[in-house]
Amino acid sequence: MYVEAGAGLAAAAGLLGLCIGSFLNVVIHRLPRMMEREWQAQCAEMRGDAPSTPTESLTLARPRSRCPACGHQISAWQNIPVLSYLLLRGRCAACHAPISVRYPLVEALTGLLSAYLVWRFGPTLQAAGALLLLWALIALTGIDLDTQLLPDTITLPLLWAGLLLNISGTFADLESAVLGAIAGYLSLWSVFWAFKLTTGKEGMGYGDFKLLAALGAWLGWQMLPAVILLSSVVGAIVGLTLIVAARRGRNIPIPFGPYLAAAGLIALLWGPQLNRSYLGLLA
Ligand SMILES: [Zn+2]
Repeated sequence: MYVEAGAGLAAAAGLLGLCIGSFLNVVIHRLPRMMEREWQAQCAEMRGDAPSTPTESLTLARPRSRCPACGHQISAWQNIPVLSYLLLRGRCAACHAPISVRYPLVEALTGLLSAYLVWRFGPTLQAAGALLLLWALIALTGIDLDTQLLPDTITLPLLWAGLLLNISGTFADLESAVLGAIAGYLSLWSVFWAFKLTTGKEGMGYGDFKLLAALGAWLGWQMLPAVILLSSVVGAIVGLTLIVAARRGRNIPIPFGPYLAAAGLIALLWGPQLNRSYLGLLA
């Protein structure tokens, strides 16, 4: 009986996740453009220029999604997560321009992981929190891959949300969460400055410090070594593979945010086991 209820709840979370994934595609696509417009407006204001009126207002809700190739407005049935992509065979209904496979991938990934989190945590505050963290991490990953930015509008509320949830010790006790936020920020901040002072290069951005601070607030300081270790190892493997396989130059920056996000999710799910196993290796 419990198993069936759990499976039903997980399936519902999966469907919700598919729709949220569709919204996250919009966030990933539009948020950097909205930030860019704001910067341009601020720069114009500082220069004393007359404020330019943008041709069309851009928010997460408006305008309705359009095909980037022909401007065809995407109708409701063409906007069903994953399914529409399959029915349209990955092409715009009007001009047949190919649609990026990333859209259905983000939707499917969000759906599957949402279902898994709810199945794993059951009908608890932990499950609700884990979903929130997952969705924010997916949006940050997409934006960082596209623009090498981790917007404050996502990382900072994520940090506060982690502290708020841990007032009642949802994922960690409050003391560990506060120390986690501070240690998360300072650890990457010191690596950044050590790297910059010795090599003159900037290896990562302030967004990375804020994201690790947020993960520290959610998971507690005890999880930070595992998160840093995991993201560095996976980042190094993927980075080397890209350099060798795609002959990418070593000086092209590789965003660190996606690795931090993945490591944070792994630590949320298997953190205690991870900590036990590598502390066991050290002993
Ligand atoms: Zn089109």
